[in-house]
Amino acid sequence: MDLSLGALARRLGRTVPSWRLAVQDAQAVTPLVRRVTFGAAGLGAMAWAPGQDLVLNLPGAPRRHYTIRALRERSLDIDFVLHGHGPAATWATDARPGEEIEALGPRGHTRLAADADWHLFVGDDTCVPAIFAMLEALPTGARAIAFLEVETPTERQKIATAADFDLEWIVRGGPARPSSLLLDRLATFAAPAGEGHAYIIGETSGVRAQRQFLLAQGWRREQITAEGYWRPDRIGGHDHV
Ligand SMILES: Cc1cc2nc3c(=O)[nH]c(=O)nc-3n(C[C@H](O)[C@H](O)[C@H](O)COP(=O)(O)OP(=O)(O)OC[C@H]3O[C@@H](n4cnc5c(N)ncnc54)[C@H](O)[C@@H]3O)c2cc1C
Repeated sequence: MDLSLGALARRLGRTVPSWRLAVQDAQAVTPLVRRVTFGAAGLGAMAWAPGQDLVLNLPGAPRRHYTIRALRERSLDIDFVLHGHGPAATWATDARPGEEIEALGPRGHTRLAADADWHLFVGDDTCVPAIFAMLEALPTGARAIAFLEVETPTERQKIATAADFDLEWIVRGGPARPSSLLLDRLATFAAPAGEGHAYIIGETSGVRAQRQFLLAQGWRREQITAEGYWRPDRIGGHDHV
């Protein structure tokens, strides 16, 4: 199979912009998250909705999806979780200024639902960048609840947003694996009044179970955005749920 970004663009059957990204800087955000700042020509024209990702072609790791954590006129940030098993995470550990990679996008339907009365964000370590980008984009008066599962207490990050929000960190206490912690939390979640929108992302089996749970609770399909970001033994890509 042709894993090049060109082949992916052709398969998507539409014009998806491609970018040549050059590493400008790399810094630790937490012990297990490394933020790589990339520069590229024309970023000011990038049509990005917070929550969306780029498909990266990394050395030895074609087609890895990574969320744009922040976008500026001349640079963008990507937060890589150092999960310890794959070439993309390993690349981020050693990324050096001047290195160049290819990227395609932005893509993806993980983006804010404009007309929701309130927003429910559920995700694991790999979803903090998407959920934080969306939280930051919410306007004053918006209401949000976020449940975020991370490996250790030191993975909890701070965020500033104009929205009225409750953020609950759920500490797994060990390496990432399929887990029912977020499903258990959803089971005791009391939904506010009005029409909510749920963003359910993370390890695929967990995402499936959480989405099924919400549907069984009476949520409509169109109220739920769901995507599998990784799963044991899957190499790159993403799962439709
Ligand atoms: C839309 C989208 C947005 C994403 N955004 C981000 C992001 O902003 N930051 C980020 O860090 N990740 C993000 N991910 C997840 C990331 O794409 C995957 O974790 C990817 O598999 C990492 O590539 P790799 O080369 O490190 O590992 P791979 O070569 O793909 O996998 C190697 C092994 O590692 C395991 N593995 C992969 N990811 C994890 C993990 N997170 N924890 C434990 N084991 C894992 C696999 O099951 C496999 O066994 C996103 C995924 C999607 C679909």
